[in-house]
Amino acid sequence: MIVKSAEFICSNTQISKLPPPVKAEYAFIGRSNVGKSSLINMLAGKKGLAKTSQTPGKTQLINHFLINDNWYIVDLPGYGYARASKSKKADWSKFIHTYLDKRESLQCVMVLIDSRLEPQKIDIEFCNWLGEKGLSFVLVFTKADKQSSIKTDQNIAKFRKALLETFEEVPKHFLTSAETQLGHDEVLAFISQINQQ
Ligand code: GDP
Repeated sequence: MIVKSAEFICSNTQISKLPPPVKAEYAFIGRSNVGKSSLINMLAGKKGLAKTSQTPGKTQLINHFLINDNWYIVDLPGYGYARASKSKKADWSKFIHTYLDKRESLQCVMVLIDSRLEPQKIDIEFCNWLGEKGLSFVLVFTKADKQSSIKTDQNIAKFRKALLETFEEVPKHFLTSAETQLGHDEVLAFISQINQQ
């Protein structure tokens, strides 16, 4: 897919104010600092679209970006920011879980995982929750340029193994880098394929 237009539509703190659920949505989510904004900008081909390197955990916003006047990238707040208060974490959890569980136009959750790290409990738990809810998701490993491909492959294998403790089949995964554009065509082709179904 070629991205011809990418447009910021709205930021929301309330589920009730989201755009009408008439266009396909792909939700991007992961731990704070995973590289979510950089990945969104890389896919959209627009540098300042999503704001990178914001104070992690600060604002709990759902951002909608309209691509090719046809489908949305939905930028969800990052989770697992260690310094966030308990009540903030609870608010985050309720807000995001409600969106993910109830949004009719949501096609797939793109779960971002830092490819430099061994499996993190919070990411595995989040995947398990998606599985329990029957939501379709894929894994998007980020920052592939930051270490050797051997290390990356080891981390991906460990993550997939950890998921196999609860899932019969591990979902599809992509390897990406906002720096080198790795994964750009593959992720967009995947979305395009779902949009055409
Ligand atoms: P977010 O908090 O998940 O939105 O993460 P950001 O997109 O703001 O990225 C966090 C930091 O990681 C920033 O300093 C980015 O420049 C850096 N970063 C993000 N993606 C990549 C990548 O693919 N390669 C490299 N080398 N750095 C990245």
